[in-house]
Order: sequence, then structure tokens, then C-alpha cells
Amino acid sequence: MKTNLRYTPITDRSIVRHPVWDRLDAELRESIQVVSKVLPFRTNRYVVDELIDWQKIPNDPMFQLTFAQKEMLDPEDYRRVRDLLRAGAPKEELEPVVHGIRYGLNPHPAGQLDANVPTLDGRPLSGVQHKYRETVLFFPAQGQTCHAYCTYCFRWAQFVGMSELRFAARATDDLVAYLKAHREVTDVLITGGDPLIMKTEVLRRYVEPLLIPELEHVRNIRIGTKSLAYWPDRFVGDLDADDLLRLFEEVVASGRHLALMGHYSHPVELEPGVARRAVSRARSAGAEIRLQAPVVRHVNDRSDVWSELWSTAVTLGMIPYYFFVERDTGPKRYFEIPLVEAFEIFSDAYRRVSGLCRSVRGPSMSAHPGKARIVGIEQVAGEKVLVLEFLQARDPSWVSRPFFAKFDPHATWLDDLEPAFGESFFFRPD
Ligand SMILES: *Cc1c(COP(=O)(O)O)cnc(C)c1O
Ligand code: SF4
Repeated sequence: MKTNLRYTPITDRSIVRHPVWDRLDAELRESIQVVSKVLPFRTNRYVVDELIDWQKIPNDPMFQLTFAQKEMLDPEDYRRVRDLLRAGAPKEELEPVVHGIRYGLNPHPAGQLDANVPTLDGRPLSGVQHKYRETVLFFPAQGQTCHAYCTYCFRWAQFVGMSELRFAARATDDLVAYLKAHREVTDVLITGGDPLIMKTEVLRRYVEPLLIPELEHVRNIRIGTKSLAYWPDRFVGDLDADDLLRLFEEVVASGRHLALMGHYSHPVELEPGVARRAVSRARSAGAEIRLQAPVVRHVNDRSDVWSELWSTAVTLGMIPYYFFVERDTGPKRYFEIPLVEAFEIFSDAYRRVSGLCRSVRGPSMSAHPGKARIVGIEQVAGEKVLVLEFLQARDPSWVSRPFFAKFDPHATWLDDLEPAFGESFFFRPD
């Protein structure tokens, strides 16, 4: 008999009724209330009961990953919101302040709202992005939330209602029409949020239309998901978990590759038995699971965390994929790591693991021109430089061509870097 552990989100409102509230001191309680007025806060019973080590708060990585932290806001902003809350200020007074702070946090990094939106008969397709020739991103409307929110989330703005509607698609008709006309597309990546927040019957409505013979050039269906880590019962004990696996089997039976792009931030997420059962059940339904996550301060800023994550994942039959640099948005200052340090964490972990783990690529920045990765830090002709390359680029001819940036120990993003050797460009114009 399967238990039906029902998913229960824990929000800034409901947490006061949860037993963990008693474990938090007054200052932590207040900071959760203050910060979650500005940035989205959601966790759930599984994360709280199975993943967070309450002996280790506030430093516990999973606590840092899903609980609002005081330092996520600038001290000045924090004080303004806190004082309004303490004074019991009415909504009309609080809202403009909150709104102003949110606008100062770069809610739409890398032109996420307007860039890369393709057109069909001259009309923009909502919920679709096409940036790299072979891969189309698809954002189903009901999949634009998650079982818990990562504190560093780059899509935080949509969770507070700043962009949701312009992003999401309600049906696949337009996507299918677009794909029929674009035979260069081999991959559709269904993403969010987390598409596996949807009931299987809803997800099915988005996936099945992609399996028709007219779309045989679409060979790989990817689903970006954090459910494997935040709500593994989605694959095990939920009422429609078996149905989800049947859908996976259907995709595979259509002759396509099904890739779950599993967002795993820390090896703790792979420890519970249910998390491992989720992996083995998804895999036995024919899905491959690839791992990806950004490196962030307070959560996974140590190389042993990554070497353990990749090694455990490979043992469980998963494939390490991307090691990202966190994007330039939201509470970035609290979570950011200089590129040079990100490279050290990555390369130190990479050197210590089996070749089977070295399918991972990084540190990678999803920036406007493409996904740029740091390849090394070297002394070239007397100048210390960062060596980079594009793993993906708007201009495919840039992929796999090393380029060089001036060494900068403080840079945290591609835009902070300048060409090395006194040049004014990264790529010599043809
Ligand atoms: C990362 C990414 C992809 C997928 O790139 P792969 O290298 O094929 O994994 C597609 N579109 C966008 C916008 C991306 O950021
Ligand atoms: S799983 Fe992804 S989209 Fe969801 S909160 Fe975390 S980073 Fe954001």
C-alpha cells in the first residue's frame, strides 16, 4: 500500500503554525517575516522534516536554500520594511516600499522577458523562448511555480507576480506549429518554475502533442525540475506518481530521449530513501537524469560538497551536466561568488572525482551572448588572464573558441570582464 503524503507548502503565513516555528529565536522569526514581504518564501514539510538539520541552523545549507535570510536585503531596505511591520503599517504604506525594493533588485536579468521570444506568422509566442538553434524552451502556465522556492532563485520575480503572465503558455498548439516550421530544433526543454508541480494529466496535455510523427526532428524532450530534490514523492507516493512514469514511458516509446534536468544543490538532497527511490523509478521508466545547479555562497560554496554530489549522483545512475554561476538578480549580493573562486571550487572538485563525473561543465554563465564557461586562469605572455569559451552562443561560430579576459578577482559575471592583452574585443572581427 502506498501512502499518499499530500504536498503541503509552508509559506510565511502558515509557518507560524508549524512546529519548527518554536525552534526559531525571535530574531530569526522576525527576519523571515520581513524578508518574505519582499522576496518569495515557500518551503514544504519534506524539506523541513527531511532535508534541514535543525541542529545546524542558521548555517545549515538547506535552511539557507529555502528560508528567507536577513542579509538577503540591504540593511537599509531591511530596516525600512522591519520598522513598517513593527509599527503595524497598513498595506497601502507597505506596498510601495516593497515594490521599490523589488525594482532595485534587477527583476528581469539578461532580458528574460523580451529576448529570444520567437514569432509565428508575425505574432510573438508567449511561453516560448528560442535562443540557441537546436533547443526551444517552453513554459507551460501551470508549471510556473515550485514545491519550494530557492532563496537565490533567478525567477523570483514571477513568484511575486511581476512577470508571470507574459511568460507562460496555455496550450501547445502554437509551439507545435512553430516546431513544424523549424526542423533545426532537436530539443524541447519544458521548464518553469517546475513543470512537475503540475498534475500528470495536465503535464500530459503539454507533452503528448510533441510526440506526433510530424515532429520527428524533435528527438529530445527535456524537463527541468527540482521535484527530485524538493518533493521526491512526485515520483513515488503521490496519487498520480505511477501515471507520471507511464507518461515517461510513452515519450521513450515514441523513440525520443527523455531527459530530466534535475536541479540538485547539495548532496543532502540525495540522502533520503525516498529521494533515491524517485531516481530509480524515473530511470526505470526510461528517463535519464542530468544534474545541474548554480554554485552559491552559504549553500554549496565548497569543493567537497560538489565532489560528493557528483559522485553520489553517478553511483545512483545520474549524469552531472552543468555547474552554473548564479545570475545577476534578486539577493545576489548575499549569494554571489567571484568567478575566480567559482572556478577554484569547480576545478578542485573536478580533479577529485571519477572520469564518469567529468561530464559536468562549468563554471558556466548564462549571459546575453551565450553560455560562457571559465576554462582556466593562466599567465599568458606576462599577463594573468581568465580563459573562457562559449558552450552555447547566439552565434554558433563562437562555440569552442577560447577567449581571454583580464584577470579580475572581484568579477562575478561576464559583463564585469574586459578583454585581455589591451584588445577592445573578445573575438577578432572576421
Ligand atoms: C542552457 C540553455 C539551453 C540548453 O543548452 P544545452 O547546452 O543544450 O544544454 C537552451 N536555451 C537556453 C536559453 C539556455 O540557457
Ligand atoms: S527550483 Fe528553480 S525555478 Fe524553482 S525556486 Fe528553485 S531556482 Fe527557482
